[in-house]
This record gives sequence, structure tokens and C-alpha cells, in this order.
Amino acid sequence: MGVRENLSDVLERIDAAARRSGRKGSDIALVAVTKTVEPALMLEAAEAGAKIFGENRVREAEEKKAMRWPDGASWHMIGHLQRNKAKTAAGIFDMIQSVDSVELARHIDRHAGAIGKTMPVLLEINMGSEESKTGFPPDGAFGAADEIAAFKNIKVEGLMAIPPYCENPEDARPYFRRLAGLRKEFEKRGHHFRELSMGMSHDFEAAIEEGATIVRVGTAIFGGRHQR
Ligand SMILES: *Cc1c(COP(=O)(O)O)cnc(C)c1O
Repeated sequence: MGVRENLSDVLERIDAAARRSGRKGSDIALVAVTKTVEPALMLEAAEAGAKIFGENRVREAEEKKAMRWPDGASWHMIGHLQRNKAKTAAGIFDMIQSVDSVELARHIDRHAGAIGKTMPVLLEINMGSEESKTGFPPDGAFGAADEIAAFKNIKVEGLMAIPPYCENPEDARPYFRRLAGLRKEFEKRGHHFRELSMGMSHDFEAAIEEGATIVRVGTAIFGGRHQR
């Protein structure tokens, strides 16, 4: 199948999962994860209705963004962001989903402020407390959220997580449920977070059923990735 067919299949599955959770497909934002994906394929996806591109490297996103895209395309950073790239990232991204430290947030705040921008961000939570992954520990993000909420040029809109890889999407479901529960804990502490970014190609339906508002899907749209 081509990108167009894959995308329409993914959108149908998002719609069905959204209905199972009492919502509409249009309530769920699809981030087409385009890391290592050729611009020609990205354009195909954009022309078939993909509106948000998710990239995990600043340089790659910067090069791609400089090309010609349909109006309204937006760019989300979904990978670990180094502080020395915060300036460029503040300039090119419409959302940074992978804020994993107060220090990084401080850098983004400063650079966003310098260009008169308010940057929407998500706090990345390391749900499985995996050493190989960055992110705040599930029960250790409250203090950080208070500090980050005080930054003027950042708006924390929600939480993002990449749970441990599970062969069976049902095994990832408890992590999704926990992230949704964590949002409620934030709510009690005065942080109103609208977005829950969780779910990838093999488990986005379970994530939506558990309350995801943003899913990040690469392989199911573009096929397997090739390292460059
Ligand atoms: C690569 C990536 C995805 C997409 O993964 P697929 O399995 O290809 O859908 C989603 N989120 C993040 C943070 C990623 O790095």
C-alpha cells in the first residue's frame, strides 16, 4: 500500500477507536512521524491530509521545513532535545513534546521569548522508569511542572510518554491508563493539561481508548524506517 492508503487506514482506525472512547476522530490529533522519511513521501501524506509532522532531530526538521509545504503544515519535536539546540528548536517548531528537564524548559523559554513566541510544550514522562529513556519519573514531575509553569514564554499543554515496547498492545494499555491517571493528579494540583500524547503505530488504538488526544504514528503510514 502507498502512503495515501496507509494514512486513510490509520485515520479510519483513529476514528473507530475515538468512537469507542466516546469521542470523534477529529478530537484526536495525528502526528505523522517523519524522522528519516523522504520529503517526497511527506508531501504525499500532507496532500492526503496529514497536518502535523513529528521529527526527532533539529537539523533534519530545519532542512525539511525550509522546503515547500501545503499551508497549515505544523512541526512537532518528539525526540530528546539538547540544550544547545533549543534556540533553533524554538524557532522552527510549533510544539515541543519532549521537555524532559527544567533546565531544557528554561532554555526554550529564553529563546522563545527572544523571538516573541510562546512555545506550547508537553512534559515527557518516563512511564517505565527505563534508564535508556529520558523524561520525568511518573511521580517526580509535579515540582518540575510548577517551576516550568512559571516560565512566561512556554505553555505546558500536557503530557507525553513512550511506554516500554510491548509486543502486544494490550500490555501497553496499563501505561496509557497510568499516564491518563497522572493527568488527573496534575489537575488536582492546579495544572490543567488538555493533551495526552501517547500511542504509536502498533498501539495507538489502545492509547486512544485510554484517553490519548495526540497519537504519533510513523511506520503505519510510511512503512519501515531506514537509518541514514
Ligand atoms: C519514532 C517515534 C514514533 C513513531 O513510531 P512508529 O512505531 O514508527 O509509529 C512515535 N514517537 C516517538 C517519540 C518516536 O521517536
